[in-house]
Amino acid sequence: MIHRKDFQAGLIGRKLSHSFSPQIHAELADYNYTLFELEPDDVGTFLQNGSFDATNVTIPYKKTVMPYLAEISDEAQKIGSVNTITRTAKGLRGDNTDYFGFSYMLQKSGIEVKDKKCLVLGSGGASVTVCAVLEDMGAQVIVISRTGENNYENLDRHKDAAVIVNTTPVGMYPNNGESPVDLSLFPALSGVLDLIYNPARTQLLLDAQKLHIPCINGLTMLTAQAKKACELFLNTRIDDSEIDRITAKIAQDSENIILIGMPGCGKSTAGNLLAEQTGRQFADTDEVIVQKAGMSIPDIFAKYGEEHFRRLEHEAVCECAKKSGFVIATGGGVIKTESNFDALHQNGKVIWLQRDLQLLPSDGRPLSQQEGIVKLFAQRKPLYERFCDAVAQCEPEATLTAQNILSAFTAAFKEERQ
Ligand code: NAP
Repeated sequence: MIHRKDFQAGLIGRKLSHSFSPQIHAELADYNYTLFELEPDDVGTFLQNGSFDATNVTIPYKKTVMPYLAEISDEAQKIGSVNTITRTAKGLRGDNTDYFGFSYMLQKSGIEVKDKKCLVLGSGGASVTVCAVLEDMGAQVIVISRTGENNYENLDRHKDAAVIVNTTPVGMYPNNGESPVDLSLFPALSGVLDLIYNPARTQLLLDAQKLHIPCINGLTMLTAQAKKACELFLNTRIDDSEIDRITAKIAQDSENIILIGMPGCGKSTAGNLLAEQTGRQFADTDEVIVQKAGMSIPDIFAKYGEEHFRRLEHEAVCECAKKSGFVIATGGGVIKTESNFDALHQNGKVIWLQRDLQLLPSDGRPLSQQEGIVKLFAQRKPLYERFCDAVAQCEPEATLTAQNILSAFTAAFKEERQ
């Protein structure tokens, strides 16, 4: 951590409330890092009069800022956009650290691109940077654009593609669950890179994982470009290992801890406590359903049946699981709906909370009344096994249960990153 409390840094953009940049920069240095949300007409005035020592620039102003700069680096000039502005004797200087960011992400992914056919989805600002890196690495680059010669209607021309890089916003929060392409069209794929980092696993990346194709999200790029920007801000050098440390920290902090398990196993009690202890927010999908439906779960079952309840539950799961850094308790039967699998895993680690069946309450819960706990468990066990990333035991003391959940979550998180 670099100490420069006197330094005023920031980020210029239009809508910045979901930005991870303040958290990343807070790990790099203790300077002030302010989010400057500007309307297009205010960008010029801000650059001329704003009180900042240095600033990052994001969507949609990476080109807008260029005419206001006295000097622009060769790399930023070549890419045609600026994401870092510093002050020099000549005036404002523009750099582009996204080139370094994507190069670092590519290197970390271990995905080979030299002499490989790489499809770059989208033709916006990030696409230009990605294409420049891929070309410099010796890849054969094809841009897929909705209005280009190579577009989403003639993807079968490129069945032999080895790598896909998504530079479109398709699948990004809040439009989680959408994917720009169907990966099954590309049997020769050996890598998928998505510049999106919220959610941690877009539908594109979840599909790649199911096909066992190596893949990576855009958080590494975001951290790497921030590290490079910080170096330019303060005219210093920071070891690349900081990128990995910060990426892992932000990824872990923003990953949801999701609890599944039999009705009455303690998900809500332990989940609430864990949220309190870790400073996370808590959500309970059953509570969301009750609030939205305006009636209790037994009443929903009695009045509309289980199928209707499962639809409401899926909606509640999608709503809760697109959030970041939450502890989320789910209903005992959440694993019965296959589409909940991707929704739960897009941004979270799923922990199966296990409790001795004899200790589970048998009253007041519709399915346990109907079928009996032992029978119910036998039916659901394979589904809990399939859905979960790790297992935690329920203890007589909720504090111990919360500790078990946190350990299981941390271990599952570390295992994925190895
Ligand atoms: P941009 O300039 O707006 O470009 C996005 C491109 O995606 C558009 O030019 C368009 O290309 C395509 N596109 C947009 N909407 C689409 C839709 N509904 N369906 C299909 N294609 C669509 O934005 P950008 O600055 O390049 O950023 C793109 C994405 O990369 C964003 O999600 C951004 O958050 C992410 N990003 C991440 C990092 C990082 O550090 N991880 C850095 C930069 C950007 P066509 O018109 O040619 O189809």
